[in-house]
Amino acid sequence: MTHRCTRRITYALGLLLVAATALGPPDALLGPATVLLAQGGPITVLSRDGRRTLPAVDVQNHQMVGLDDLATLFQLQVREDAAARAVTASYKNQTIVLTPDQSLVSASGRLVSLPAPLTRRSNRWLVPVEFISRALAPIYDVKLDFRPQSRLLVVGDLRVPRVTAQYDESPSSIRVTFQITPRTTATVTQEQNRLLLHVEADALDASIPPAPSQQGLLTGIRATDPTTIQMDLGQRFNSFRTSPATSSGAASVLTVELLAVPVESTVAPTPPGGVTTPGAPGAPTAPGVATGPVPPTDLPAFGSSRPTIRTIVIDPGHGGDDAGVKGPRGAVEKDVVLAIARRLKGVIEGRLGMRVLLTHQDGKLIGADARASIANNNKADLFISLHANGSPRPTTRGVTIFTLGLDRFGEDARRQSRADRAVLPVFGGGTREISLVEWELAQAAHLDGSNAFAGIIEQRLRATAGLPTVTLQRAPMRNLAGVNMPAVLVELGYLSNPDEEQQMRSADFQNSVALALTEAVSAFRDHLELSPQVAPAP
Ligand SMILES: [Zn+2]
Repeated sequence: MTHRCTRRITYALGLLLVAATALGPPDALLGPATVLLAQGGPITVLSRDGRRTLPAVDVQNHQMVGLDDLATLFQLQVREDAAARAVTASYKNQTIVLTPDQSLVSASGRLVSLPAPLTRRSNRWLVPVEFISRALAPIYDVKLDFRPQSRLLVVGDLRVPRVTAQYDESPSSIRVTFQITPRTTATVTQEQNRLLLHVEADALDASIPPAPSQQGLLTGIRATDPTTIQMDLGQRFNSFRTSPATSSGAASVLTVELLAVPVESTVAPTPPGGVTTPGAPGAPTAPGVATGPVPPTDLPAFGSSRPTIRTIVIDPGHGGDDAGVKGPRGAVEKDVVLAIARRLKGVIEGRLGMRVLLTHQDGKLIGADARASIANNNKADLFISLHANGSPRPTTRGVTIFTLGLDRFGEDARRQSRADRAVLPVFGGGTREISLVEWELAQAAHLDGSNAFAGIIEQRLRATAGLPTVTLQRAPMRNLAGVNMPAVLVELGYLSNPDEEQQMRSADFQNSVALALTEAVSAFRDHLELSPQVAPAP
């Protein structure tokens, strides 16, 4: 599964704040005779000791907190000096002097102005919340970071990034874009019927809007434990993928795309933009169709400057610390696909006499770009990435063959506003114009070949390996985008399906898949060599 290709991290501090203790309800603050209005709710105080609640009330449009509550939270000594008409709050050797009904406060001899005065209500002293950052923080020996917007007070050097989310919907998918400020490492994992975004932090300042109303794909989203955002998956959920996190100013941006179960009979929708196909808008085989099932392409003659295949790069998915999908009986994606990759290398070398390179041998994890670089630097003629899939539904099964879909990348490229326009020749004499960032251009020039190869693989997996369910899909896969040659990513089955898990571990299955893929390579080579070459457009 490609989402697992994102780098995995371990996080040590995630459980620091699990013990959440709240102070008692603010009953004492809201005596029956008062005219205080609770507004905005309490302030959450995060520290190494846990999570506490600081009640806040509204007095004449000012958010006020009790000096006694602050004394409890911050070990302040509060004294009332009736003779001097003053209230003092001391911490260690430092003292804040307040005067009733006055907005000026002395913090260790320094005068500080508050937006509202010290106020007496129901035998308690109230100060505006700004007291914390303006008067208390300067004398306190631990950092106090008050965030009015999220009503959060962070005590000490805790990492509490702000996390926001936005949604982009299509008929077959929902994309959730998380923005994490400041930049913070985050990973996505799947646990049964939910996806978990783990942020490498001590707690989250999360502001997550409700999930879109689209039924059956994403049914809920919320912050759960202090460092996790949980996405609840609906019945239509099939798989997901994440983009590598990118930086946008001070923030990390991570997208999670939830894909619906393919509907076999549906014609792929016309892309919303990003790719223009003169003369064939919305045609089923139009390049750049959105994520979703696409009919097998006929084998269009591949008018390329590569008349044959000499070198193949096989990319076993995952590796190193990144195990990929794990099956219910213990099969591990990285091991299964590496075993198949090695068999495939042997069969291709033995039968076709081609040079075959593997991107890695499970020594350590390498990223998508490094895998593409290995293929590009070795001037390979064909790139095959091997994966196994995972689904929360144990009955989900079948092979999926991916080629690069351009539409979403085009969208991203425009958003990043560093798009270059490119006009790519298309077989048959036309051109198509696409907007892409640099690293995406490589694969875009080979999509006809990639789609032709995917169609051949589909035939061979059915005919030679006897696999009944093989789906072709185009998707904006980072794994393929930078590859400068025809490229496919094959999910060889679902490790989450116990039957397919057992099958994928068997030598019989691995050999028959290696044979089918070798036949596909051979057929694709014939196709390249025998196709009439198209003269370049003048
Ligand atoms: Zn994978």
